[in-house]
Amino acid sequence: MTQVTMETLEAGGFDGIIKEGAEAFDGDRAPLPCFVHHRDAGGWCERGATMEAYEIPFCEVHGAEIKAGILAEIYHDAGNALEAQAAALVRAYPVAKLEERVDPETSARGHNETTGNAHPVDIFFAARMHTLRLMRLSWSAGQHWMLEVLEEKREGASAQLAFALALRAQKTGEPV
Ligand SMILES: [Zn+2]
Repeated sequence: MTQVTMETLEAGGFDGIIKEGAEAFDGDRAPLPCFVHHRDAGGWCERGATMEAYEIPFCEVHGAEIKAGILAEIYHDAGNALEAQAAALVRAYPVAKLEERVDPETSARGHNETTGNAHPVDIFFAARMHTLRLMRLSWSAGQHWMLEVLEEKREGASAQLAFALALRAQKTGEPV
């Protein structure tokens, strides 16, 4: 077996990670449910899947969010990517029942507060990007069994990031 290094993984390419339109589900249009189901995401998404990412089915709304994240991770664009992804995040993980699911540190955070801790937006952004990276490395290494496990973690981080973005916007009166 060839030694797996970061370089060989990167060189493995990104083909097939995102499948949309006629490419998705190998052309089979049988309706699959969206995979998103994390507790923080409000449980099972009830929309039908319209695309695949890492061979996992997603609805249009959750698909747009993971696609934005995957592209940012692949192109190492994390620094500039948050603004571009914020709209997809808050749309994918809306705040209707915020008080039930939001991380306590996020709820407690005042917008002018200067604690020694990183802002929840930064914490959950990093968690989401790291998980996306692990998903890509699992994919490249042919370890597909790991993807659904990591996806659930990613959903939790994405939902909490969306809540932190929405709350920060609420507290500062600025748009997300
Ligand atoms: Zn969905």
